[in-house]
Amino acid sequence: MSAVRTVLDDVAPGDLGVCDAHDHLFLTSPRLAGQELRSLPAARAELEAFRRQGGGTVVQWTPYGMGRRAADLPALSRATGVHVVAATGLHQDVHYDDETLAGLRGRLAEVFVAELTEGIGNSGVRAGLIKVAGGFHTLDAHARRTMAAAAEAHHATGAPVAVHLELGTGALDVLDLLCDTSGVPPHRVILGHLNRSPDPVTHRQIARTGCYLAFDGPSRAHHATDWRMPDAVRALADAGHGDRLLLGGDTTTASARSVDGGPGMPYLLRRVAPRLALAVGDGLVRRMLTENPGRAFAVDWS
Ligand SMILES: [Zn+2]
Repeated sequence: MSAVRTVLDDVAPGDLGVCDAHDHLFLTSPRLAGQELRSLPAARAELEAFRRQGGGTVVQWTPYGMGRRAADLPALSRATGVHVVAATGLHQDVHYDDETLAGLRGRLAEVFVAELTEGIGNSGVRAGLIKVAGGFHTLDAHARRTMAAAAEAHHATGAPVAVHLELGTGALDVLDLLCDTSGVPPHRVILGHLNRSPDPVTHRQIARTGCYLAFDGPSRAHHATDWRMPDAVRALADAGHGDRLLLGGDTTTASARSVDGGPGMPYLLRRVAPRLALAVGDGLVRRMLTENPGRAFAVDWS
């Protein structure tokens, strides 16, 4: 039986409800000094606000060593009634100190598999996806090592591989490496941030492989491409790829949280979804928030 691995339990894909397919409850990085997502009460209030907008599931793409607070996720999920999926994996090297990276050398795949099957640290909370990251139009040695390890962990567990594309670029290189070289089936790859590089031709090339395309991270002053997203999604739907599209909020800073005055998680359902529905209809938007994530994240864990 295929199920989505949440922080509480393995859940049938049909029971996820409305899913934010890429977001963060907790996130720390030297790159986010002063804006880290660390606060437990703020995370809880944000989840409650998402729930009040009709949200049912949040997939947290925070990988290894970036302040996931895995041990706190089950209580948060229980208290708010929102399913939460945690991630293993590794971000770009700029998010880590040398010591952390040195400690992982040669054992990345092993760490990913352990976090998917046994638990993150000694929390007992298991991850449900592997998050990795590319660079701006390129894949450096760190990204290649990380993706090779992610592919190995995928082959051992079946877990999906979710990819941060820097400014939405590098998708074809990522697919070459993960799928062609490392044998991950395209439908087990989720490419994130495609809204930041709204090139319809590349989008169609990517979609033709069968991978999932995530349109995540709306309402950013420094990625002001929101207005192009509905047309990009419509073009993909018209080309027959509606079943491969996902939506996410990708809240990455404290001031972006709705409970701290930003748009936050509820914004995805309050404004992004209705705007998108004007372009592609309620039915497809509903599928992008329910059936598609159910399929993208469900795994036969046995
Ligand atoms: Zn993210």
